[in-house]
Amino acid sequence: MTHNRSFAEFILSVAEGPRMTTIATRSDNNSKQTNMTLTEDRELHEECGVFAVFGVHDAAMLAYYGLHALQHRGQEACGIVRVNNREFKRIKGEGLVTEVFNEENLATLNGEMAIGHVRYSTKGNGGEGNENIQPFMFRHSTGDFSLAHNGSLVNALQLKKYLEDSGTLFHSTSDSEILAHLIKKESDCHDRLYAIVDALNMIEGAFAFIIMTASRIYVCRDKHGLRPLSLGKFNGGYVVSSETCAFDVVGAEFIRDVEPGEVVVIGKDGLTSVDYSKFKRYNMCAMEYIYFARPDSDIEGTNVHAFRKESGKLLYHEAPADGDIVVGVPDSSLSAAVGYSEASGIPYEMGLIKNRYVGRTFIRPSQELREKGVRMKLSAVRGIVNGKRVVLIDDSIVRGTTVRRIIGMLRQSGAKEVHMRIASPPMTHPCYYGVDTSSREELICTRAKDVEAVRESIGADSLAYLSLEALYKAGGRSELCAACFTGDYPTPTEIYQSVEGVSRAKRL
Ligand code: SF4
Repeated sequence: MTHNRSFAEFILSVAEGPRMTTIATRSDNNSKQTNMTLTEDRELHEECGVFAVFGVHDAAMLAYYGLHALQHRGQEACGIVRVNNREFKRIKGEGLVTEVFNEENLATLNGEMAIGHVRYSTKGNGGEGNENIQPFMFRHSTGDFSLAHNGSLVNALQLKKYLEDSGTLFHSTSDSEILAHLIKKESDCHDRLYAIVDALNMIEGAFAFIIMTASRIYVCRDKHGLRPLSLGKFNGGYVVSSETCAFDVVGAEFIRDVEPGEVVVIGKDGLTSVDYSKFKRYNMCAMEYIYFARPDSDIEGTNVHAFRKESGKLLYHEAPADGDIVVGVPDSSLSAAVGYSEASGIPYEMGLIKNRYVGRTFIRPSQELREKGVRMKLSAVRGIVNGKRVVLIDDSIVRGTTVRRIIGMLRQSGAKEVHMRIASPPMTHPCYYGVDTSSREELICTRAKDVEAVRESIGADSLAYLSLEALYKAGGRSELCAACFTGDYPTPTEIYQSVEGVSRAKRL
């Protein structure tokens, strides 16, 4: 466990970590049929994005635009809560930001404070009602408050049992509600800030929490630094966002990232800061850089596009391929493909086109719709790939289903060879921090016995991954969470060992 090691030991283990670049090559050019029965595509899903506005006229309208910029972080549901003259009002619903909100209903959310949330659910395929849609609202004798959360708590089961045993009734199945009940308990004997600090010290895991009271917004980031959260200013007020791309969209100015273990209080006197924990790490989720975040976002000082492009360059140096064209899987792999092309001198081509008008149907996380969605979403461009040796760049392989289909599509469109290069190490472990990577058994890299078996399963002519060392180097980072590649989780393992048997459906 990283947190039990000295910093020097941690750095050493990273430096000495296994180089995972291994190239497997096909023995012939015939596409082999896989005999693996995989049930889901490769798509990874994160749970959500959060956005907050303080001290700005029509705060909810600004939150709407902020959430729209964060839509890639969750498409299942969204909501906004505003405060006006100490009165809370909320609008929330299933669907995209543009489906839930319109000019009419936004006009009813007048006020100068608002928080918003976009959500992806591992079980959001209908029937669960809207009780899990955030932001949540809570009434309490010490003052009402609203809360929005991105991430997942690894000690949620234990805390839920503790709270239920002491009489708490939960309204949702979400981890996020746990913090609210802990705050309510602590608020009976503490000032609100100290109640929040005490509550935060009871939870473990990945989180970016935004808590809005009648007069303040509290912005909290987990002590491991797993989830991104940034502060900005706008028209004399403040904004908070999961990603900085939303600041550019609304015209806000970036101030700084919220530090791991920090609570920033936004009130009429400006910003104040306290640490809820002296333990601080910068274990930012590597998948934020690799896959989730928008390329125009900066995370902890590194631009996401620049990170991906550099990883593509390093991937070429570690795993060169003979090809006529470099093609990236849209959209998250395009930056890495550009980097690979620049480093190799092999021209970058648009060999795959994404249909940008696929509606929400695609995004619903049900297997049947995913299957249909992949075919609707991507097409190979025959005029580009026909007769070519294609170097195909993807950001990651999770279950292998999607990439197998894409390779099949390229071959059907006449590609002579397909050399697969992955801009991350093999994914071998599940995530406990809110990313739906599925169970270990579903990951192709743990099911297949080696890289050659994965290559054969997906039908590529050759396959290679980026090394762990290069992943750190791409962002110039000495710390990252890379647990889904290494199994080296930044939080105590004994907690999630006990959670492991619980269905993923428990995590929201
Ligand atoms: Fe991100 Fe993987 Fe760590 Fe989860 S385990 S937080 S997906 S790097």
